Amino acid sequence: MNKKDYYEILGVDKSASQAEIKSAFRKLAKKYHPDVSKEPDAEERFKEAQEAYAVLSDENKRKQYDQFGHSAFENNGAGGYDFSGFDFSDIFSEIFGQGFGGFSNFGFGGFGDSNSSRPTKGADKIVRVDLTFEEAVFGIDKDIILTVNGTCEKCHGVGGFDVKTCDRCHGSGTITTQQQTILGSFMTKTTCDRCHGSGEIYAKECSHCHGHGSIKQEKEIEVKIPAGVDTGNQLRIRGKGDAGSNGGPNGDIYLEFYVKKHQIFEREGNDIYLELPITVSEAALGCKKKVPTLYGNITLTIPAGSESNDKHRVRGKGVENINSFGKGDMYIILKVKTPQKLSRDQKKLFEQLAKTHLDDDKEFKRINEYLK
Ligand SMILES: [Zn+2]
Ligand SMILES: [Zn+2]
Repeated sequence: MNKKDYYEILGVDKSASQAEIKSAFRKLAKKYHPDVSKEPDAEERFKEAQEAYAVLSDENKRKQYDQFGHSAFENNGAGGYDFSGFDFSDIFSEIFGQGFGGFSNFGFGGFGDSNSSRPTKGADKIVRVDLTFEEAVFGIDKDIILTVNGTCEKCHGVGGFDVKTCDRCHGSGTITTQQQTILGSFMTKTTCDRCHGSGEIYAKECSHCHGHGSIKQEKEIEVKIPAGVDTGNQLRIRGKGDAGSNGGPNGDIYLEFYVKKHQIFEREGNDIYLELPITVSEAALGCKKKVPTLYGNITLTIPAGSESNDKHRVRGKGVENINSFGKGDMYIILKVKTPQKLSRDQKKLFEQLAKTHLDDDKEFKRINEYLK
């Protein structure tokens, strides 16, 4: 993975002081915080800056980084330093003020509180999708019905009509209260709870969505499910989740797949297993047998002297690899079936066979030696 240099990300010198690093991060956080930024790549830039700051603000980690570069932190497969344990709350409240929502780390999905007037991403949703064995193996275009909180069409998501100045704070967005204490009188400023700081309210609440700006709706989306998905796999569909508020982006949909069992095939990863019953005579004499695969019938040559659980591998008759090219393999497991019901003729033949030395095998001899 080609990663940018942490110093470059923050735009500071290798010899930068902690104060310079902090100030550089403050600038970037202000510019790119996804709650406030309008930049198209804000989310990515913000995460980048968070990662760089989490490392460089810690003298120990910074030393490791100076010595070994990114490889000092590439322990989480995805590459890069996992900064999820880092507490950003102090610096964020310094940058954005104490009232700036209850977040500490930017994570996935909707953060911030819905009451605020800043753009907020809608919630992500997981939707279960049941697939037949074949649908999962070959992929399919499927219409999926979702119930999501969509933008209210009547008020276009704002929750009301006729903007007017907030009558509680008279447009300032803040309310000042005076408090008398034994130390004297204090003035406290708080965000207006009526307009949530915007200074404006709607004269008329939207009756369709009761002022929420969003409303539960059923949506049908067509989804291309790729060949090779398996139970538990998730497919992310951007922007089809709950509507964002105050102009924030929609949440995402995660389709989670559940694949039904097949009548004869079993799947393990990208490999397919088939138990194939064969008769005692087929096992003893060998034979050619028609075998079904996911891709039509094949003819399998079973050698004389085959036993139960003998495994035949058929290359490339498994499931398509969803992450790369190629297919898995198919394994055919032989199951020698002893006949449960014999006709008179068959019984005679077996009796004749029994008089011959069928127990010539060394396995029989091993036990027979102990009988002496
Ligand atoms: Zn107000
Ligand atoms: Zn509405």
